[in-house]
Order: sequence, then C-alpha cells, then structure tokens
Amino acid sequence: RFISFEGIDGSGKSTQARLLAEDFAAQGIDAILTREPGGSDGAEEIRRLLVEGEPNRWSAETELLLFTAARRDHLERRILPALTAGRMVICDRFADSTRVYQGATRGDLRAKVDLLHDTMIGREPDLTLIIDMDPKRALSRGLARASGEDRFEDFGAEFQETLRNGFVELARSDPARCAVISGEGTPAEVAQAVRRSVAERLAL
Ligand code: C5P
Repeated sequence: RFISFEGIDGSGKSTQARLLAEDFAAQGIDAILTREPGGSDGAEEIRRLLVEGEPNRWSAETELLLFTAARRDHLERRILPALTAGRMVICDRFADSTRVYQGATRGDLRAKVDLLHDTMIGREPDLTLIIDMDPKRALSRGLARASGEDRFEDFGAEFQETLRNGFVELARSDPARCAVISGEGTPAEVAQAVRRSVAERLAL
C-alpha cells in the first residue's frame, strides 16, 4: 500500500513520515520511506534543478514539467517496483503538492496539472495524510526552515495560508483517500493520530 504525507513547509510532515516508517519497522512491516521532489537518482538530480538557483529560474509551466518528470522517474524506478514487491511505500509529498503548489499558486495551472497527472502519473496513494498547521505557528515553532537551503523558502505567511487552504480543500474533495490531521501537538501526539488514521483506513 502507498501512503503519502502532505502539508505546508514546517508542518512536521517529514518527521511524521519518518516516525511512521520507524513504527512499521518496529512491527516488522516491510516499508520504504521516500520523498518528493526526489526519491530516485534521476528525480534527485531534477530536484537540484528545481530548488537551486534564482527564484524565477523557471517559468511556472517549466517548473510543472520538471516536477512531473521527477515524479515519473520516482514512480517508475522506486515506488512501483516497491509496491509490486509487496512493500509499503511512505512518501513525503506526492501529486497533491503539485496540485496545491503549482496548480493553485503559480498562475492558474490547475487544468494542466491534472492533465499531466492523468497522462504521465495516473496513480494516487491509497491514503494521504495531510498534516495541517497554522503557518504562523509553524514559523513560531521554528519548524519552517530558514536555512537558505532552497529557492522556495521566501514564501510569505499569506502564501502559506493559501497553500494550507489548498490542502484542506483537496482533502474535502477526496475524503475517501485523504485524512486531515492536526499538526499542532507534540510529534508523539501527532504520530498517534497518524497511527490511528492508518489503522482505521488501511486496517494496519
Ligand atoms: O518538502 P521539501 O522541503 O523537500 O520541498 C522542497 C521545496 O520545494 C519546499 O520549499 C517546497 O515548498 C517546494 N515544493 C514546491 N512544489 C512542490 C513540492 C515542493 O514548490 N510540488
């Protein structure tokens, strides 16, 4: 089965993805932990093209194509082989990030995002856990990085609020696949809520 984690920067989703992977390992459940953009050798190379350089290095459309190319490689080389081998896949971000980041925020690319997804990806996670958090709290908890590590970091608080709303709306439009989990508690508390959701939805 395929589980993705989504949320704004600083929501703690990467920590939660790792904690779930550790929990599966402790239970003897065979799982891989991976991430986007990246997750395969080729996709990690594309990630560098995406995150490094000037803020306007790529047009919105080119950026969408790069994210999609990275996802396609990741899916072909890493995710599908793992699923075929009967392993669980835990992925830190997947197509919903593109729906929200590229679809809703950089011009009005949503129709193109959906078209590319249908033709080039065509696969959804079995369960998507959206770690929901007030962007201001994420900032005040020091979770949102300010390391100068990537060129997407200048997203302002208002923009983060748009992203947050985008994720919550997505969850509303696909409740069979998505669960919204509050990211406001301690990492252990959030991990418990994640665990409950995985148990309920996937009987694991
Ligand atoms: O989740 P992670 O921090 O690895 O993502 C790297 C950067 O790419 C983040 O700043 C995130 O906001 C951005 N991103 C994006 N569009 C996506 C996925 C990630 O702008 N589809």
